[in-house]
Amino acid sequence: MTKHFCLPDRVDIQREIIKKSGVVMGKECWIWNGAIDKNGYGTRRYGTKKINKNFFAHRLSFLVFKGELKDGMQINHTCDNPSCVNPVHLYQGTQADNMADVKDRGRGAKEKPNLQGENHHSAKLTSKDVKFIREHKKKGGSLRALWKELFNHLSYSTILMAGRGSNWKYE
Ligand SMILES: [Zn+2]
Repeated sequence: MTKHFCLPDRVDIQREIIKKSGVVMGKECWIWNGAIDKNGYGTRRYGTKKINKNFFAHRLSFLVFKGELKDGMQINHTCDNPSCVNPVHLYQGTQADNMADVKDRGRGAKEKPNLQGENHHSAKLTSKDVKFIREHKKKGGSLRALWKELFNHLSYSTILMAGRGSNWKYE
């Protein structure tokens, strides 16, 4: 039984965000029509039935549309609308920038799977994942941030190796 799952590729996530948020191009908020947590944040689960992970829709949106996520940064809303996933309304900031997002962080940390005992070398990345990781790095994004955000079901070294590019074999 595999312990890993693959995320949809960046463009598919972008399409889904647009589809699921009733987008009106322009200044309006893109309201997430999928699952909403008790604090009003949109969520999306990816993976298989057995192995999956919940992501915040606004954080996914920032990552797939903007991409230059720095380590230790939170994604805040300029519109104060937690269910909004319009990348134009999202900015990254420190913890002090938005107290509401402190909860975000805490919960994210709790959801982080325990990687102990896993065979890190069998970690699975698709060619699309690797492309995504390299694009993110090229844009000046932090690999550690990307790992924490999307790939913490794998080992950090896997993401580092994929980012470096040399001799990385993917499926
Ligand atoms: Zn908004």
